[in-house]
Amino acid sequence: MTRGLILHRRILSRRDYIVLALESSCDDSCVALLEQIPGSSQPRLIAETRRTLNSGSVGGIIPTAAHDFHHANMANLVQEFLHTHGLSLRKPPDLICCTRGPGMVGSLSSSLQLAKGLLIAWKVPLIGVHHMLGHILAARLTQEATIPQYPFLSFLCSGGHTMLVLLKSTSEHEIIIDTADIAAGDALDKCARELGVKGNMVAQKLEIEVERIPINFIDEFRKVNLDTLNNDLRLKLPKPYRGPHDLRYPSKIEFSFSLFLSTLQGFFKRNAHVDQQAIDLLRFKVQESLFDHLVDRLNIALIKHGEPSPACPEADRKFANVKDFVCSGGVAANKVLRRKLQNNLAAPMNFHFPDFHLCTDNAAMIGIAGIEIFEKLRVTSDLSILPIRKWPLSDLLNVDGWLNVGDKEFSQIVSNLHDH
Ligand code: AMP
Ligand code: ZN
Repeated sequence: MTRGLILHRRILSRRDYIVLALESSCDDSCVALLEQIPGSSQPRLIAETRRTLNSGSVGGIIPTAAHDFHHANMANLVQEFLHTHGLSLRKPPDLICCTRGPGMVGSLSSSLQLAKGLLIAWKVPLIGVHHMLGHILAARLTQEATIPQYPFLSFLCSGGHTMLVLLKSTSEHEIIIDTADIAAGDALDKCARELGVKGNMVAQKLEIEVERIPINFIDEFRKVNLDTLNNDLRLKLPKPYRGPHDLRYPSKIEFSFSLFLSTLQGFFKRNAHVDQQAIDLLRFKVQESLFDHLVDRLNIALIKHGEPSPACPEADRKFANVKDFVCSGGVAANKVLRRKLQNNLAAPMNFHFPDFHLCTDNAAMIGIAGIEIFEKLRVTSDLSILPIRKWPLSDLLNVDGWLNVGDKEFSQIVSNLHDH
């Protein structure tokens, strides 16, 4: 029996439905297949695949190269994937989910156009998905017994975004902290390149390089104080927003990462020859300091929006009912960051991290978010939707192209799902 027939039988017997998901917002062409029992908050991932643009030699993603990459690859990837999993005109999936934004328009358009073509051929609903909602909900695809419950906090830490978001429901999102300049992943990538790390996903390689440093060296590195210039390197690695005039609980809390990069660039301008031990020290310290800055700003938010205390009598209890903390996005794959969050956050939280391979961009998370939008918000997308370059998460429903699906129509769609 082919894989397709097995899937088809499962649809009929368990009243679950099959979701095809596409993602191409940045430099990964991704496809995934999920299985969902209507109303369940934990879809099952059947299969996924991805191809990544190799930007290692050019030191960053070039939008036109990403555009060409997706337009050349996405259709082939989807064709192979559909064939492997037995999906065809006779046995289509039941729902198509595709990233609509935010991201690079040229990249987004390759899978969105393809999704529209599939919709016309298969006559199944399409959901234009918000990429960041995907990252946030990726934590649902887990072996863990518990999944995050609304309201929960999501710390999204990726190559393009670094933000703490309070999610009250699928469509109610409040951004609590954003970055004042570049994203944490971007900063780590750029710092890692300054520190001689090469290739794609440089921050991931930086983590590996730091893990390779012998433990006795790490113990010594911990003792080196880079908060002042009083060290052998004459290097001060200042923490952003740690000046004497900064308020402990400012009205607007922000992350900032460009200082880490400019400090390193200044150091290498002054020092042409730096030995390997100093490079190792800097690799270790930059990763530590950047994550310490993240934890520091998160703690300010947790205290400011927690219970009033002598340290912060003006605390507003905004997080009073929050018990779950999700950390997602590519940087969430970093084990040092995970440990620092688990050990150093100022409020007790149930932590949720997506599986490592679901931290960076992938189509499975787009499928999960699409299912949530379809089932909870009861909307689908129309054929005129365009990719959106900038799309604040708080404006999820505030864009054109959503079609309301009434309760009756929704039940009809869900029951028709089984008639293919
Ligand atoms: P995303 O934008 O969510 O696709 O994530 C990509 C970003 O995550 C890039 O900046 C990567 O270098 C970064 N990243 C991936 N893995 C790790 C890791 N293990 N540690 C730190 N950063 C990482
Ligand atoms: Zn992403």
